Amino acid sequence: MKVAFIGLGNMGGPMALNVGKAGHTLSVFDLSAEACRKYAAEGLSVADSAAAAVAGADAVVSMLPASRHVEALYLGEGGLMSQIAPGTLVIDSSTIAAATSRKLAEEGGKRGIAVIDAPVSGGTGGAVAGTLTFMVGGSEADLERARPLLEKMGANIFHAGGPGAGQTAKICNNMLLGVLMIGTSEAIALGVANGLDPKVLSEIMRRSSGGNWALEKYNPLPGVMETAPASKGYAGGFGTDLMLKDLGLAQENAAAVRAATPLGGLARNLYAAHSLAGHGGLDFSSVIKLVQPKSA
Ligand code: NAD
Repeated sequence: MKVAFIGLGNMGGPMALNVGKAGHTLSVFDLSAEACRKYAAEGLSVADSAAAAVAGADAVVSMLPASRHVEALYLGEGGLMSQIAPGTLVIDSSTIAAATSRKLAEEGGKRGIAVIDAPVSGGTGGAVAGTLTFMVGGSEADLERARPLLEKMGANIFHAGGPGAGQTAKICNNMLLGVLMIGTSEAIALGVANGLDPKVLSEIMRRSSGGNWALEKYNPLPGVMETAPASKGYAGGFGTDLMLKDLGLAQENAAAVRAATPLGGLARNLYAAHSLAGHGGLDFSSVIKLVQPKSA
């Protein structure tokens, strides 16, 4: 299969490497020259533009930050929708508004291009290991076409429903993640303020009824878990501003269907304050700084 991969950031880069390793002919592109250089050095074939990357492709995968980037890539002036050949399969794995995913699927439908939304969960660790969870919105038949490719990047593939349903599942999950990271941070900070060893406390909670994904894989306190972004200066991982975007999407969605999401709303505001304090580029687990003494 000839595959084009657009967006080589924290997630897209390692996902593209896994597709390449599986033996597909791969052409990649990112607007960032630095990202292109990095993955050219890893052996990927970097195209001069997104349009050049998709030429002759059987499938196009994109992994961009937000709705506006996806709109610009596919639907903007000279966007990819006018460059991609009919019959091509488009897999957009970016976390974006469900409405944008539906618009993309609709545009694709008019041109004979199959489009699925396939946002992921599992973090950068999952992207590297090829163990991501995909939440797919689109037809069953298009998901089956995508499956061999998704299996190279992920371990769990769920069909959430029609176009946009993958995005809805994703923002429900991320709203929960945003809330639980703040709760976990509060609990650890409280224990540390009382003189507890954070490693011991984290292990106690991990094996007790407070156990959760942050305690398993992504402890927010530096030094507790070597592999977590917290122990790497909160570099890489999942940026605070990306979490803020997802919590904003959840609130927009909640308003549209008149759902009550009080903790999701509070979490969005806390990440917004954290971002305004200058931490937008740090991994979202750095939100623990909001509840730590300044010197910590
Ligand atoms: P990132 O900011 O690290 O990477 C995005 C990349 O897209 C950048 O390299 C940027 O230059 C590139 N880009 C933007 N517009 C482009 C365009 N028009 N053409 C080509 N390249 C373009 O973001 P990320 O952490 O890789 O996240 C990507 C998506 O995955 C986001 O929607 C995010 O919410 C979601 N996500 C991230 C994580 C995580 O842990 N980082 C986990 C699950 C889902």
